[in-house]
Amino acid sequence: MENCVFCKIVNKEIPAKIVYEDELIMAFHDIRPQAKVHVLIIPKEHIPNNLYFEGKHKTLIGHLMLKANEIAKILGIAETGFRLIVNTGKDSGQEVFHVHWHLLGGEPLGKLICK
Ligand code: AMP
Ligand code: ZN
Repeated sequence: MENCVFCKIVNKEIPAKIVYEDELIMAFHDIRPQAKVHVLIIPKEHIPNNLYFEGKHKTLIGHLMLKANEIAKILGIAETGFRLIVNTGKDSGQEVFHVHWHLLGGEPLGKLICK
């Protein structure tokens, strides 16, 4: 997808601090971390957000969720705990329209929602 910053990371057109990659997904550090550990987990396929998932993506969605645990272990935050966030649309503040899981941890994260 042209002009999608995460597609450019997938295609190695722009750099990222990659922590995990396989044939379906990639995980890399967020450029503006909101917690001590803040990694984004994305499918390599360009899917704009959660609303665009279809039945054919079931395996991919399961893979993302299972690999999130593995990536948390790689990052050393599985034991202490972490949070996964999937922003979807305007009210969520979604900025990048290539679906992604925010994986946050490494310190106490406070309340679920800050206004
Ligand atoms: P969201 O608001 O859920 O769309 O989150 C998008 C996230 O992508 C933000 O936390 C940004 O800091 C992050 N981000 C944007 N560009 C990059 C980039 N080039 N490398 C890493 N993270 C990025
Ligand atoms: Zn994309």
